[in-house]
This record gives sequence, C-alpha cells and structure tokens, in this order.
Amino acid sequence: MRVEQLGEGEPEIAIVGSIHGDEPCGAEAIERVLADPPAVGRPVKFIIANERALSRGVRYTESDLNREFPGDPDADTYEAQLAHELLEQIGGCTVLSMHSTQSYDRPFAIVDETGPLSRTICPQISIDALVETGGFVGNTLVGYVNAIEVECGIQGTATAVENAEKLVSEFLRATGAVTDGGGKPATPGTIPVYMLRHQITKDPESTYSVHVENFRHVETGEPFATIDGKERRAEESFYPVLMSSHGYERQLGYAAELRGVI
Ligand SMILES: [Zn+2]
Repeated sequence: MRVEQLGEGEPEIAIVGSIHGDEPCGAEAIERVLADPPAVGRPVKFIIANERALSRGVRYTESDLNREFPGDPDADTYEAQLAHELLEQIGGCTVLSMHSTQSYDRPFAIVDETGPLSRTICPQISIDALVETGGFVGNTLVGYVNAIEVECGIQGTATAVENAEKLVSEFLRATGAVTDGGGKPATPGTIPVYMLRHQITKDPESTYSVHVENFRHVETGEPFATIDGKERRAEESFYPVLMSSHGYERQLGYAAELRGVI
C-alpha cells in the first residue's frame, strides 16, 4: 500500500485507487495528480491500495479486498490484512475510492445508501447515476467509512484514467480541499438513484450474451440475455446495473429499481 499526502496536518479527506489490482485507473489518476499537485486548503491523503495485485495485473492475490472489510491484522489472507491497514489509514476521512468495470464506459457512483455525503458530493462530480447497494454486497469499503465509490469506466482503458483524474479533481473541489474555482457546477435533481434488488447469477460453464444496456429499463418479458443459445426473458421489469457478458465468473450483474433523483 502506498500512502502519500498533500498539505499539512491530519487528513480528513482521502483518495483511494486500485483496491482491485486489475483496475489500474485509480492508481494512474493518483500518479497524475501527485505529478502536478493542486494547492490544497485541507490536507488530503492519497492511497494506492493493492499494489501487490496491481503489479501482477490481477483483481486480488488471495481474496477480494472489497469483500474483506473491516479486515483483521491476524487474518489468513493478504487482502484481509490489507483491509485492516487501509481502514487504519482512512478511518474518520471522507473518501473517494476509484474502481472500473467491464460493463459501462462512463462514470457512476456506488454507496451503501444515499446520505448527506452523496447528496452533497454526487451533484458536483461527473457521474451518470448513483447506485445504492443497500448492504446487498457485503463487507465493502462503503460499509465502514464515509465513502463514495466511483466506477470510472472500462477496465484498462485510457478513458477510465482520464475520467478518474477528473473525478478526483471534482471531488477535491466538492469537499473544499481545493478552492481555486473550476470543478463541476452542482446540478441537483439530475442524477438518477438506483437500488440493487437482486443478483443475476451466472454458470461459469455456460456462454452468455447480454442484450441490454446498463441503467436502461428492461420490460417484463423482454429478452435481456442469451445463455447457451437460449433466450432469457425478464420475469419482471428491472434496470440492469453492472451487467456484462464477461465481467464476473458467477455473476451476470444486478437487477435494480429506480428510486428517484438527487
Ligand atoms: Zn473494483
């Protein structure tokens, strides 16, 4: 884990990249920001989390770091120990944590539930949507610190790095760490909020093809995927989130409901 700081004093703001080692955009965005650091009015901590997995180009080395929080210094796996170390670094901070996906090329945010932080920050960063996990995905970072996770784009792309860098800059302005103007004017009431309703599982032996776009409404009865050449229709209407043919081994994605806007 690499920890850097801009500004003097104990940071209340933290930027975290590459909790997943095969999502280099967060680490690269942090490198870029540190190479040409902004003048900060509040101290900010920058953390490249899973350097070991990042250097190997894998999601994790022993267990998924973003399913290991709060972690344990005496845990069996490297990532479970790292989860504890990371929380020691960012406990009490307002956190932006950067990820990327195989499913959607533009940024969106993930929180456990919409609260004061997401209401304040989300309208001031360039995202298409806010997704509430509602505790559906267990032991993730957002359950343990005041954090917003952002999916910055498609894993391994230059666009994801550019998006990540822009989100860092907007987040630093939204939190008042950087005050030199710029940033994104707040646009309240324009960001749709989705809540995950259930997981759509996948058999690793089968071949999948997804026919629908994330965040676009799927009607009851609409064919949304082909599995081993057989069409699968929606039993009830939903909004696909994090859905892709090849993102995860045992999960096609999530069915979500639209909750409103912030
Ligand atoms: Zn990730």
